Amino acid sequence: MAAAAAATSTAHSLLLQRPAAPRAPAATASSLRLPARSAKISCTAVAAPSASSPLTGAGDRGVYNFAAGPATLPLNVLKRAQAELVDYHGSGMSIMEMSHRGKEFDAAIKKAEADLRALLAVPDTHAVLFLQGGATTQFAAVPLNLCAGPSDPADFVVSGSWSDKAFKEAKKFSAASVAWSGKDGKYTALPPFDDIKQNPEARFLHICSNETIHGVEFKDYPEPRNKSGILVADMSSNFCSKPVDVSRFGVIYAGAQKNVGPSGVTIAIVRKDLIGNAQPITPVMLDFKTHADNASLYNTPPCFAIYICGLVFEDLLAQGGLAEVEKKNAYKAGILYDTIDASGGYYICPVEKSVRSLMNVPFTLAKGPDFEKQFIAEAANEGMVQLKGHRSVGGVRASIYNAMPLAGVEKLVAFMKDFQARNP
Ligand code: PMP
Repeated sequence: MAAAAAATSTAHSLLLQRPAAPRAPAATASSLRLPARSAKISCTAVAAPSASSPLTGAGDRGVYNFAAGPATLPLNVLKRAQAELVDYHGSGMSIMEMSHRGKEFDAAIKKAEADLRALLAVPDTHAVLFLQGGATTQFAAVPLNLCAGPSDPADFVVSGSWSDKAFKEAKKFSAASVAWSGKDGKYTALPPFDDIKQNPEARFLHICSNETIHGVEFKDYPEPRNKSGILVADMSSNFCSKPVDVSRFGVIYAGAQKNVGPSGVTIAIVRKDLIGNAQPITPVMLDFKTHADNASLYNTPPCFAIYICGLVFEDLLAQGGLAEVEKKNAYKAGILYDTIDASGGYYICPVEKSVRSLMNVPFTLAKGPDFEKQFIAEAANEGMVQLKGHRSVGGVRASIYNAMPLAGVEKLVAFMKDFQARNP
């Protein structure tokens, strides 16, 4: 196994060789003026997708950032924001400095909403809301808006840490119960939908479409057993990574800081007929009606974050929309999982193959935590940063959201083969 790995990795090893000068630690690498890093390592065995966006930047900032969120953003978006920062559209102000009720910001938020609607084909039956408080706030807002009171039942599929948090918060405002839990299997699988023990009276069925820490992703979605029940999804970490039939959902919510923008804004897509029934105790800021009635401008919104999301939506449309984006994501994830699976057990991804995430790829090294540390440190030294697994699970995690260039994943894959060959 080691010999085979060594044989196939020779070219990669050569490409990975770099001058002896030690690099700064990963935490500070991005703040250094590093020379443009070669992004030329490529896997020639498989053809790369032809349609690569001229807008999505390569890794010419010196590093590829595999962080889980806040995460890498398209370079062209950052450059455009930089160009527009000081004097937005000739206004003499940055977008951070102007009234959220002025014509410039009004145009920016309306365009962001229109472009998101186009990307996800959001039907007219659904409102798009730009909210604050992170996805975590939605863990409370969802039961407060959808359940009549604390005795109203709601079902949760607990497929990882985030859906577990959502369930625990919902218990305060509804009779939430666990309809299926992946805890005993260490959150490495999803249930056949028939195994979800749904309460026929449940007001809603909540899922996390992609568990950011455990790397488990729904490829299709269950139907609520209650015919008037509502499907709710926390899509924080795979929002806008692929097309989704929004009409199947009563509520979709997502913190922006993985796939579509900076932290500070949370996007909710809510079926309009569900708005206006919040429990009387609902704080005004958590009531969907407050934001739906005021076009997300009830109070001062996170203007800059919304503006950046708008630029990202424009970029995704320019790439050909979410069907194209999904193809690229599937290809990137594919070469990474293939490398893990072809390593003869050197790298291990515990997640069941059919539900492996296209966004967050967690893996361990069979040689143990010391080698994982070495792997992460050496990768950082090669300009691949933020690969440490979440503190609750350890190991390695490569988050490869929309904005991670293919070259970044190719470089990681080459590094993995090289590391294995050098440390058999
Ligand atoms: N849900 C998921 C799937 C997440 O990944 C996260 C953040 N990592 C959250 C919810 C919490 O989001 P926030 O920090 O925006 O509250």
